[in-house]
Amino acid sequence: MNIAADHHVEPELDAVVVGAGFAGLYALHKLRSQGRSVRVFEAAPDVGGTWYHNRYPGARCDVESVDYSYSFSTELEQQWNWTEKYATQPEILNYLNWVADKLDLRRDVTFNTRVVSAVLDETTLRWTVTTDTGEVVSARFCLMATGPLSAAMTPRFAGLDSFAGQIYHTAHWPHTPVDFTGKRVGVIGTGSSGIQSIPIIAEQATQLYVFQRTPNYSVPAGNKPLSADELAEIKANYAERRRLSWRSGGGSPHIAHPKMTMEVSPEERRAQFEKRWQLGGVLFSKTFPDQMIDPAANEEARAFYEEKIRAVIDDPEVAEMLIPSDHPIGTKRICTDTNYFQTFNRPNVKLVSVRETPIESVDPTGINTSGAHYVLDIIVLATGFDAMTGTLAKIDIVGRGGQQLREDWEHGPRTYLGLGVDGFPNLFLISGPGAPAVLANMVLHAEAHVNWIAAAMDYLDEHDYDAIEATPEAVDNWIAECAQRAESTLFTQANSWYMGANVPGKARVFMLFIGGFAVYNDICAEVADAGYKGFTVIKAS
Ligand code: FAD
Ligand code: NAP
Repeated sequence: MNIAADHHVEPELDAVVVGAGFAGLYALHKLRSQGRSVRVFEAAPDVGGTWYHNRYPGARCDVESVDYSYSFSTELEQQWNWTEKYATQPEILNYLNWVADKLDLRRDVTFNTRVVSAVLDETTLRWTVTTDTGEVVSARFCLMATGPLSAAMTPRFAGLDSFAGQIYHTAHWPHTPVDFTGKRVGVIGTGSSGIQSIPIIAEQATQLYVFQRTPNYSVPAGNKPLSADELAEIKANYAERRRLSWRSGGGSPHIAHPKMTMEVSPEERRAQFEKRWQLGGVLFSKTFPDQMIDPAANEEARAFYEEKIRAVIDDPEVAEMLIPSDHPIGTKRICTDTNYFQTFNRPNVKLVSVRETPIESVDPTGINTSGAHYVLDIIVLATGFDAMTGTLAKIDIVGRGGQQLREDWEHGPRTYLGLGVDGFPNLFLISGPGAPAVLANMVLHAEAHVNWIAAAMDYLDEHDYDAIEATPEAVDNWIAECAQRAESTLFTQANSWYMGANVPGKARVFMLFIGGFAVYNDICAEVADAGYKGFTVIKAS
């Protein structure tokens, strides 16, 4: 292939960005606005990242649409009209396509192209980036916008390949809608993806079996259309909404009750839980400030939750199976659903506990558990992701002394601020492990990271340096700080993907910064203001 003829290739780039989701698209726009030459490589045929790949029925955001959207441009905020409180996957994908067109981003994105390696030249301090199409470019900076939830996980069920019907993973959903009408369907997995898709599949399928290993907490979304008046009011007050989001713990404009759970009367406690319940979804984990720290406070929230859920499930035995008892509420991401629990009242839906009767094999006709054989036409795998590190581990990222990032991270990811890694100068992670990442509104989080990285690049140029690199001490201290903060909460009690617990053999460490979005941004700003404390700035030899 004549690469130079096919593309407007500048082999010596300022930056390569890997991934064209929310993070990669903003990185391209921002770095371009600094006058830098940038190429984005995207494995998929188009922009969107998460919202390109996860097209399963019922896929929506669980952060309100008006918050889960770029804040860097007033024009974008004012021109786009969200139609629902929680936008559907197609609407979010349309939004990202609209942004890509409006900002003329596509001309610097190479689609259908997977980055397979990024190798540091220790003399020039540049990165050689190689793709699966054979393209090789050299870049001063390498930004991994590869996404925390982009390596889908398919468990190795014996005989899965022999299944004669269709198998769909929620994260690799076909582009033409799947028709479940008249079909016997099995869904494996009851995380957010399973919980969003199950009610819709149940409406179509003749028979739906839900194979549940661990029940999850899920709070009704309270989704609704956004009226023209509501949208106008939000737009009129967008600046304040964003200000609150940037100063919040989770990147959206909702603040926990100012008092601790047990400080208030039982009536007030209940009223506050009810208020949060009405707000909908994942926000229920933040009703009171101590809910994720104090076991007694958490138990109050859990009991309120249990009462709500039991009230909508007809069969008490099914309710018992659906109520989690193995982890404090909120220590796994609370799912955000529409009619999930009510779905189990339908005559065509059966809940199967694969904790009690594990899946032993799949054969051409269906799934065999230790208890029964289930005849199926379609299997839906809603089995999640090798989160935070899985996608990066698929790329050969080679730093100083031939050091491989994936080997360096064998016992858990090692980053400073979730942004930089010692031994890997000018390699930046966006929403990497060690940042709040998925604990915050990920759109603002991506903006925060890209803005910080762009400012660091300007700093290097202004001071005539070539590269910036986290020190090993800063990385060690940051890992210790993240671990210590996590240990002071209830989060480490859950077998969550935050802990790497969903991937057999993966190191068990809490992979996120739990201290809150605003606190984290303050720390990043302090580091920058102190001349990039914990980083060394370097001239190439
Ligand atoms: P992604 O959107 O994951 O994009 C990464 C891109 O990198 C992908 O397109 C991928 O193809 C590409 N890529 C990866 N490796 C390579 C490679 N080697 N070479 C080339 N390209 C590569 N977060 C929220 O805050 N709120 C929500 O409501 C929410 N809902 C979610 C719903 C679902 C179904 C899922 C799975 C996640 C959700 N998340 C949510 C988290 C979501 O991942 C982030 O909000 C956000 O979309 C991540 O954007 P990103 O650009 O960082 O990564
Ligand atoms: P997940 O939360 O990891 O859920 C995976 C499910 O598959 C779990 O129920 C898990 O059971 C089950 N599973 C995995 N391996 C299994 C096996 N071998 N046998 C039986 N069951 C198995 O994944 P997800 O639902 O895709 O969600 C991941 C994250 O993406 C969410 O937490 C959220 O951050 C994001 N997301 C958000 C939304 C949204 O509402 N906007 C929607 C989808 C995803 P165990 O629990 O027992 O491991």
